[in-house]
Formats: sequence, C-alpha cells, structure tokens
Amino acid sequence: MFWNKEIECINRDELEKLQSQRLQSMVQRIYNNVPFYKKKFDELGINPKDITSVKQLSSLPFTYKSDLRDNYPFGLCAVPQQQIVRLHASSGTTGKATVVAYTQNDLDLWTEVIARSYTMAGISNSDTMQVSYGYGLFTGGLGAHYGAEKVGASVIPMSGGNTKKQLQLMEDFGSTVLACTPSYAAFLGESIVSANILDKIKLKIGVFGAEPWTEEMRQYIQNTMNIKAYNIYGLSEIIGPGVSMECECQNGSHIYEDHFIPEIINPETGEVLPEGELGELVFTAITKEALPLLRYRTRDLCTLTYEKCACGRTLARMGRIVGRSDDMLIVRGVNMFPSQVETVLLELPETTPHYAIIVDREGNLDTLEIHVEVAEQYWTDEMKQLDAIKKKITHALSNMLSLNPTVKLVEPNAMQRFEGKAQRVTDRRKL
Ligand code: ADP
Ligand code: ZN
Repeated sequence: MFWNKEIECINRDELEKLQSQRLQSMVQRIYNNVPFYKKKFDELGINPKDITSVKQLSSLPFTYKSDLRDNYPFGLCAVPQQQIVRLHASSGTTGKATVVAYTQNDLDLWTEVIARSYTMAGISNSDTMQVSYGYGLFTGGLGAHYGAEKVGASVIPMSGGNTKKQLQLMEDFGSTVLACTPSYAAFLGESIVSANILDKIKLKIGVFGAEPWTEEMRQYIQNTMNIKAYNIYGLSEIIGPGVSMECECQNGSHIYEDHFIPEIINPETGEVLPEGELGELVFTAITKEALPLLRYRTRDLCTLTYEKCACGRTLARMGRIVGRSDDMLIVRGVNMFPSQVETVLLELPETTPHYAIIVDREGNLDTLEIHVEVAEQYWTDEMKQLDAIKKKITHALSNMLSLNPTVKLVEPNAMQRFEGKAQRVTDRRKL
C-alpha cells in the first residue's frame, strides 16, 4: 500500500532533479528563518540564491550536534511556535539531550517514511504489531506507533519493559510483528524460550533499530524467535526512526532520498568520500519544516552504495552502522568498536549476546576487561571446563581486536538486560 514505486525505483537523474528543487527551497528557508544559518552563510560568502543543484551540497557548511545544544532548545527552528505540534528529545546516549520539533507536515512525513518502511518488510493491515520501544520523548515508540497505524496494522502500544506482560500480550493478542531495540529483542527472545511458549507465539517479523547491532545478532534473534528481523535506522535530529530501512534482500538499508540526502565524509577532514568507502554519515533534510538541518553530522560510521538493489529500488543503501565515531574506543593506541566484540561473542556457542566492556587505566597503561555471559548449557562447576571456554573466548577476541583483553566469565542470566538502548561500555579512564 505504501510501496511508492514511482519514487523508490526512480531513475537517478530524475531523483537528482527532485532533490535539487527541494534543496534549493530548503536553503532559502533556512537562510530566511534561522539566524544561525544566515550568519553562517554570510560569513562564508554564500548567497542562498546561487544554490540550485544538489551537486553544490558539498560546498555548504555542516551542522553539528553541538549547534543544537548551543541553540537549545528551539534556536534552530525554522517556523514559529504556533506551527509546532510535537516536541521530542534525543535519548542523550552521548551527553545532554537535544530537542527536536515537528510541524503537522513533519509528523505526516515521518508517518509516511515509517509506513513505507513497514511496507518494505511486508507488514500490512493483516498484522498485529507490538510496539515495545519506550513511548515518550524518545522517538522510537510514537514513531513506530503512527507508522504501524498508517499501514493499518493493529497496534499494541505496549512500550518498553515489563517483560512478563510483553509475553502475555504477545500470546493473547497474537502479535505478528515486534518493534523494539535489538538488545531488547534478544532478551524477549530468550524469555520466550525459557518460558517455553515459542509454539504459542505468532511472531513472524521483527523491525529493530535505535542502536547498532551486528549481522550475528540478527541471526541470534531470528533463530531464537523464529522470525525475520529487519533493520530500521534513524535519528531524532533528522526525523526519528524511518530515515532508512532494509528491504527483503537484507543487503543494506534504503535511504528515503526524496527527503533525506546522504553523504559519507572523512570525519577528520570533512571531505566527501567515494562510493563504498567507510566514513561518517551526513544528512540534509530537504523537506522538513520545523527543523530542516543542513549537512547534519550523525557521527555514525558506515558505507553507502548507489547500485540498484535486487528488489528493484534505486534508492541508495547504507551498510550497517559499525559504530559511532564517538563510541570508538582507543585502547593502548588501538581503535576498537563494541560491535567487534559482539561479532566475536555471537559466533561462539558458549556465550550469550549480553556483555560488558570496561576500560580503565593502571599507571600509564590502559586495561581492557570484557565480561562475558556463559550460555546456560555450557555453565558448569568444573573449573577446567570454564578455563577452556575462557581461553577460547580470549583467543577469538584477541584476534579480532589486536588487543589482549582480560575476559571474565559471568554465570547465565547474571549480566544486565536492557529494555531500550543497551549501555555496554564503561570507560573509567580520566582522559
Ligand atoms: P541519541 O543520539 O541520543 O541516541 P536518538 O535516539 O535519536 O539519539 O538515536 C539516534 C542514533 O541511534 C543514531 O545516530 C545511531 O547512532 C543509533 N541508531 C539508530 N538506529 C540504528 C540502527 N538501525 N543501527 C545502528 N545504529 C542505530
Ligand atoms: Zn532493496
């Protein structure tokens, strides 16, 4: 129903024309309505009237998360308060929360991109969707909610937490789709298995996002719940979830380029990188009214491809987020991402996907400790056997990270579970 073929399979020259028109009007709007952008353009000697093509995008200035914070709460809004109908705030994973505003048209656009996303995953009015993202300032819950209603699904606004009730409703209402963070999905999956109710559950599709997750985590979730799990990506500054979504090919996520123009840049130099190279993802929201951000630095690291997808869509695809430029840890001079640890642990049957990374410093030397939960069927009182497991994990992690972590084994179900975004890294160094 929301398979907008005309746009999603558009000829790329046509798309460029559409983007250019929209960019042109957006640049005028922000110049005229946002003093922050007017000042920036004037300082750089850019006349907004000269911007007529998307090809000129790389000549325009970036917007940073710090710009939103410096202009807290509404300084970057391009419309008067009377037109704002909703406020959200980013979850503040890294620092103080940032506020985002929506006009009615912005909310309609958000609902549209999520409806398009759910349609991409084959979700329709025959489905019952359990929304287990938190409802509130976080964009996950309400974003999923309106998108699901738009495709006509029966929506259960369950919100996060209360796992027992989640399972109860899943069973009683016959939920066919689950929407939550991948870490909560992993936990719900385990809970379903340990309650031995898999045969009473009708789930067939999961749409998970809001935090980085690996291909191995996808396999884990798909196998535990016997579903097909899709990746949805977004960030509140751009609109919320629904900036991009995986199609049935599960080979990268299609970006709704008719609304959000992506670029991949070198985070150090700001230079735009050639197709396929790993770098920082940058978005320009060309149709948003309340908060139309120009070249917003997401700090998320991934690759982009413009190759036509096997599904027929021509919309650009982004690879998985390998991490945020600010969640990269530098330990003893070596760069590492939590996602590398997840990849290793999920390849080993002896462990669960619940882990913690603790970085500290003794004297001048960084220390790296990784707490790993042992899978139930491998847990034993035999020290020798546990030592062998520990050795195996340490070896695999050392290979992946080029570092020698201290591995601590934790007994089954002892690691913390997360109902929203997982917090797995503790950096105790005072750098
Ligand atoms: P915060 O930056 O406070 O976490 P948001 O709630 O807006 O604010 O979260 C957006 C961020 O969440 C993205 O920039 C990205 O880092 C992460 N994210 C969202 N969806 C995904 C996804 N599917 N894969 C990886 N990371 C994601
Ligand atoms: Zn596709």
